[in-house]
Amino acid sequence: MTAIETKERLTPGPASSAMLWEYAPSLESTDHVKVASRYNLFIGGQFVEPHSKRWFETINPSTEETLAEIAEADAEDVDRAVGEARRAYDKVWRKISPSERAKYIFRIARLIQEKSRALAIVETMNGGKPIKESRDIDIPLSAAHFFYYAGWADKLEYAFPNRTVSSIGVAGQIIPWNFPLLMAAWKLAPALAAGNTIVLKPAETTSLTSMLLAEIIQEADLPPGVVNIITGAGGTGAALVSHPDVDKIAFTGSTEVGKRIQRSIAGSKKRLTLELGGKAPNIVFEDAPLDQAIEGIINGIYFNQGHVCCAGSRLFVQESIVEPVIRKLRDRITTLRVGNPLDKNTDIGAINSRAQLEKIRELVESGVEEGAEMYQSSCTLPARGFWFAPTFFTGVSQSSRIAQEEIFGPVLSILTFRTPEEAIEKANNTPYGLSAGVWTEKGSRILKMVSKLRAGVIWANTYNKFDPASPFGGYKESGFGREGGLHGLAPYVKLS
Ligand code: NDP
Repeated sequence: MTAIETKERLTPGPASSAMLWEYAPSLESTDHVKVASRYNLFIGGQFVEPHSKRWFETINPSTEETLAEIAEADAEDVDRAVGEARRAYDKVWRKISPSERAKYIFRIARLIQEKSRALAIVETMNGGKPIKESRDIDIPLSAAHFFYYAGWADKLEYAFPNRTVSSIGVAGQIIPWNFPLLMAAWKLAPALAAGNTIVLKPAETTSLTSMLLAEIIQEADLPPGVVNIITGAGGTGAALVSHPDVDKIAFTGSTEVGKRIQRSIAGSKKRLTLELGGKAPNIVFEDAPLDQAIEGIINGIYFNQGHVCCAGSRLFVQESIVEPVIRKLRDRITTLRVGNPLDKNTDIGAINSRAQLEKIRELVESGVEEGAEMYQSSCTLPARGFWFAPTFFTGVSQSSRIAQEEIFGPVLSILTFRTPEEAIEKANNTPYGLSAGVWTEKGSRILKMVSKLRAGVIWANTYNKFDPASPFGGYKESGFGREGGLHGLAPYVKLS
């Protein structure tokens, strides 16, 4: 029996009182947003046709409609982009005064704010995430990252006191599809502030806001070649990684590709930072404020359809409160509104791609086959597009695939524990080490847990809080290096 067939049997009945709350549609208008029919590569401050003379379609995952054609950069285009970045580094950017650099970065931040509505709509159309998330989180945080690092550009000697600080050179940056504009901001802002030039490659399925960012960079009058944006698939990224004139690679994406990149540049002088996958424990103790914890669990796993590297995808509940936690979660997931991402009431949008949907389905089926019990919201899913109802599993064993592998979808695995020591042991039993959550009333317990959990970011009595001033990054197979905050500058400077 497949997971999807099993759904009928295991789906709880509609939460009676919650289902009475009908929301009228509240669609964000797209009339004023201009998406071009075709986007070229942004190299040397200009939009240029790809050497390959090939373009691929980018779609709206909630409707499967084509939005635009995106250029596919080949090795020659990568070479051209790196050449422009090198020229801009040698002739302009490394020589410009730090306060001038700050002004450009500040200008990019202001332009993002100015165009935030259009950026949010395009992010939602191209990626499938709810408009309330792109509008309230992705776009404002992107602007905030540029503002924050604009502030550091002329204060590097304070960031690294008693050291001589210099830039590195040309950075090759590769980003994923889950937070397209935000990941571009995380990468570009510190690199620019530290005086480097850049070749950025967005993910194949979500290139559109990067192209809008290229237009913003042009409008901000950044010297040509300081930022180059080349689109394409994995091959384009691989060509960027192997280019001999790139000094640093910054990659966010899957652990598998991260390892491949690390192997491919071993022995070269290239610097590397990797922000990879996760399988975060979200640990709820019996003294936790339960209703707040439920909201934290929901936010931890269903935010952005669970396409989040730091998602709280393994829930550890103290045995004494398992029953109320599961009951409350069952009720709460039936109230999550799944549907048109452009509707301001939507909580869960479309899965980013057909390939990702198939991966989620396959892992969910493996959970059912391995004997876990599945609960799925009884929501109606739209007929077209890629969708997956919010789901959680109980009775999950430590060794099962849904407790070990990153699902990267709206699927939660629930496990239990009796003592803090058991929670720590189980939480750390993963190849990953990106993030964790702890819910308890006791401050001393929080301090004990955070000192023992092997995770780069740990939230206490909250989840998924991001700030440009806070470093983010992982241990073990979640990668190395930090983005955000003062730590985020370090990979982009030479210290002597
Ligand atoms: P990938 O790691 O394949 O993609 C991330 C970025 O790397 C994309 O821009 C991709 O291009 C590019 N890329 C792919 N292959 C290479 C290569 N050999 N050399 C250089 N760059 C390359 O992730 P996927 O998009 O395929 O997602 C697969 C899984 O990765 C997800 O299910 C999820 O588990 C995990 N993931 C984790 C993320 C995180 O934030 N930690 C983010 C995204 C995914 P292109 O998209 O064009 O293929």
